[in-house]
Amino acid sequence: MPIFTPGRRWQPPYLPFKREPLNRRALAALEKAIKGPLFGCRMCGNCLLQETAFICPMECPKGERNGPCGGSTKEHCYVDETRPCIWYKIYERSFAMGREEKLLEVLPPLDWDKVGTETWGDVFGRVREIGAGKVFSGLLFKPAEVRYKTWDDIFEPIREPEWWQGDNKYHAPKYTEPVSELERRLKAGEFVVTAEVAPPLTVKTDKLFKNIQMVKPYVAAINFTDNPSATPRMSSQACSKMAIEHGAEPVMQIAARDRTRVGLQSEVMGASAMGIRNILCLSGDSMKMAPSPRGRMDVIDIDSIQMLWVLRRMRDEGRYMDGREIKFPPQYFLGAAASPFASEPKFQALREHKKVNAGAQFFQTNLVYDVEHLEIWLNELAKRNILDKVFILIGITPLKTFKMAKYMNDEVPGVFIPEPLMKRMEAAEKAGNAQEEGVQIALELIEKIKKFEGQGVNGLHIMAVGWEEIVPRIVTEGGVLPKGFHQPELEKVPA
Ligand code: SF4
Repeated sequence: MPIFTPGRRWQPPYLPFKREPLNRRALAALEKAIKGPLFGCRMCGNCLLQETAFICPMECPKGERNGPCGGSTKEHCYVDETRPCIWYKIYERSFAMGREEKLLEVLPPLDWDKVGTETWGDVFGRVREIGAGKVFSGLLFKPAEVRYKTWDDIFEPIREPEWWQGDNKYHAPKYTEPVSELERRLKAGEFVVTAEVAPPLTVKTDKLFKNIQMVKPYVAAINFTDNPSATPRMSSQACSKMAIEHGAEPVMQIAARDRTRVGLQSEVMGASAMGIRNILCLSGDSMKMAPSPRGRMDVIDIDSIQMLWVLRRMRDEGRYMDGREIKFPPQYFLGAAASPFASEPKFQALREHKKVNAGAQFFQTNLVYDVEHLEIWLNELAKRNILDKVFILIGITPLKTFKMAKYMNDEVPGVFIPEPLMKRMEAAEKAGNAQEEGVQIALELIEKIKKFEGQGVNGLHIMAVGWEEIVPRIVTEGGVLPKGFHQPELEKVPA
């Protein structure tokens, strides 16, 4: 186990793709020999140790470089339960050292050209540029802030290359008129409801259209999931386009898990050209949840925070990630997932803060069953002054059975169902009315959540998990019908 990195093991280092000159290979070998045992360095060639409390995040099985995934817990990593979540350790140490604000800086994805090569050559180059004398006098016998600044002058240009320029600041969108109906309603102060519709497993679309028609009058927008549980279905983009053709407003979900940086940028350009105006950036369920045979679990090319950063810059600065100009940039309202129960509220708030800085304009949260805990999380967001920069829609899922409640509580990362609710579902199951009990619990939660309107909560996001027929009832009985609601006449579903 590395000396300064409290992870489980020293994972094999990355290998360079091409043969480097002898002097660089020698330097890489020296760097590996020293940073490996000390920090568990994997020679990613894109070092960011100074930003992560001197714990190398490249031990994370997903290669997350901007914070923990939604599955992180204090006990263990979500992908490999035999090791701790290295990001949890980074958060703990950063808070203990008072360096937590460093974690707000949006860090770039790997430049794979540099993978496996040394970083020390770049460091020596920077020292030469600044002047060795200036560096030594800035580091020796100086107050902490001077030392930190000198240190940052060396490392900042290395970890934030020209093509990325990440920082820890909030960047307000550079447009004023809402680009989508969802954004317009939120800005107008409506308490909005969105709902999820699952894309079909086949190319037959009658059920999809039926669900869209059924849900549409009751919600501001419909989310189409992007291969949940890492299991293929019809694409979110195709469903979003079909929703527009049926007069509904879609929220297209994009999971980082299935995208390269190239594919991501091309997909949002196409989506924008087709009129899709709401995009939800997600990490995506791990391949661990996928049916066999499973794909790679250890590589994501770009994480959800990096996605937000890239998409915001494409829209507001008219630039592709590689710097090329986009003459007619895409337009969209950018969303992200928030997970109030994934880890300690102050850790989660920091992660949410980073997403807002990167470009998130609205959050749809994971399922909430514990409103007291939700309030703690909202208070942490308030301390970070971000409640006026992001709209928050709270995730609601009506439970159908006790088995479903148990699965959600035990298996789904970031979901917590309090014991009294579990007992109610168990008793209702025995009495044969679990579905009705699940609906009543959802309605009670909505009643409690509505009290936070004006205190950070802007609406609800109903994830019915294949039970779309229940959405109209929940919205109606929950007293959250949209402004100007008209009782729908169901359109004929095409055969
Ligand atoms: S829980 Fe998630 S973020 Fe933490 S080490 Fe595992 S994969 Fe990485």
